[in-house]
Amino acid sequence: MDQQQATISPTIDGILAHNRAFVERRAYERYATDKYPDKKLAIVSCMDTRLTELLSAALGLKNGDAKIIKVAGAEVAHPFGSVMRSLLIAICELGVEDIMIVAHTNCGAQHMSGKEMVANMERLGVSAERICGIDFDRWLAGFGDTEEAVRRSVDMVRNHPVMPPHVRVGGYVMDSDTGELTAVR
Ligand code: ZN
Repeated sequence: MDQQQATISPTIDGILAHNRAFVERRAYERYATDKYPDKKLAIVSCMDTRLTELLSAALGLKNGDAKIIKVAGAEVAHPFGSVMRSLLIAICELGVEDIMIVAHTNCGAQHMSGKEMVANMERLGVSAERICGIDFDRWLAGFGDTEEAVRRSVDMVRNHPVMPPHVRVGGYVMDSDTGELTAVR
């Protein structure tokens, strides 16, 4: 790769510098594994930065243990969307048998307002003509009740028309501070 490329941003430049040093000192060796999840487990969780390390630490997972799909609100929002597609790949190609949907407390995606997000888009330079004609208010709206959203996602996965019958699916909410899991029934 061309290491003389123009500056992208101070943040990304810093990350690229770290990455070169990481590879040079062979720091990757302790993470060696293959593509098959050792625990035959897939997790759908939130992109929230509080969970970046907390999720794996609180669940006792190491590199190679589980397929982890991160999406705002830990929602499986569409039966033929990318989250469901990822789960089916994990099951049918990579041997996953257990699925955990792990939402978390005080999720940023909970109380989102589609109208507010559209206003933010305009403030960030997106022209109003580009925004009209799409039902952003519905698409970008928050899910309100966290436990209810987890139940919906669990139901969608469990009752998906092409879900193999041996797959077990559980729903949970993680405390964003302590990592404590509470099962959603
Ligand atoms: Zn969240």
